[in-house]
Amino acid sequence: MSVQGSAVRTVWDPAGPEGLPFGSNSMQHGTAVFEGIRCYPTERGRAVFRLDDHLRRLLGSARQLGVPHDYDLPRLRERVLAAADADGPDESYLRPVLYTPEGRLGVDLGRFRFVLAVEVYSTASADTGVGALPPGVRLTVSPWRRPAATSFPPQVKATGTYAVSALARTAAAAAGFDDAIQLDPVSGRVAEATVANVFVVRDGRLLTPWLSDSLLAGITRDTVLVLARRLGIDVVEGPVEVGDLHRAQEVFLTGTAAELVPATEIDGHGTDPAGPVFRAVAEAFRDTVRGRRFRDLGWLTRTSEP
Ligand code: PMP
Repeated sequence: MSVQGSAVRTVWDPAGPEGLPFGSNSMQHGTAVFEGIRCYPTERGRAVFRLDDHLRRLLGSARQLGVPHDYDLPRLRERVLAAADADGPDESYLRPVLYTPEGRLGVDLGRFRFVLAVEVYSTASADTGVGALPPGVRLTVSPWRRPAATSFPPQVKATGTYAVSALARTAAAAAGFDDAIQLDPVSGRVAEATVANVFVVRDGRLLTPWLSDSLLAGITRDTVLVLARRLGIDVVEGPVEVGDLHRAQEVFLTGTAAELVPATEIDGHGTDPAGPVFRAVAEAFRDTVRGRRFRDLGWLTRTSEP
């Protein structure tokens, strides 16, 4: 994904204040919940990928955190589509956030409000996305594990949990790696990367950690599972050990922002960044998000009628 020439625009809820008070709990304690959503150009106009799935996850995050707010699915959909529509013909990344604007410093949460950041990739094209077969990332298994599901629900996408990701990512970068794989704190099995899910290929079979371990049920992860099955690839969600990473022929990461990114190594164990399974799935993904294939899955919401 190319982010050259990108610009970020913030769209505040017109019914509320602009800006985040410094004392806001969401600022001080990381209690905002959010989503990352992509909008792609298709031959029938611009379309948001799996919009309702993202918004349901956003509502689920707020519900599990137990915070009151005034938004339902249609209202959120309308806001996101209006913001996406203003972007013109390019690809964009949409970041809807529910946060508390109340400036109290304690951990008691006030009513949440909606805000959205839009990043437009003015130079993005099919050639800069997954189709360009990026050179691949170098991964290491982090000593920092994911939070236990008994400490914080892994399906709540809260800003605060990204301190955990930042810690692992910073340590990995200091050791010369591009990203870290984090383990489940109890089972010690592979959970996910810092902002992405992980897939492993062995003997033509595609394996990804099951949701019994502590990881986000990524929407790109689900997309890859569906597409791989459609392509006739043998797919398994199950326990993934560190040894499975070391013995893999291919390893790749999936996430809304990163899309599909192949790895070249895990702690010195080489993997093929242009392996046949990655190439097939990445091509199907690139075509699906741009409406060239598998339109029957109903994953694209056009930003406006032509
Ligand atoms: N795991 C974590 C911790 C993430 O932050 C993300 C990015 N949202 C993912 C996995 C991938 O999720 P998705 O495919 O829904 O973007």
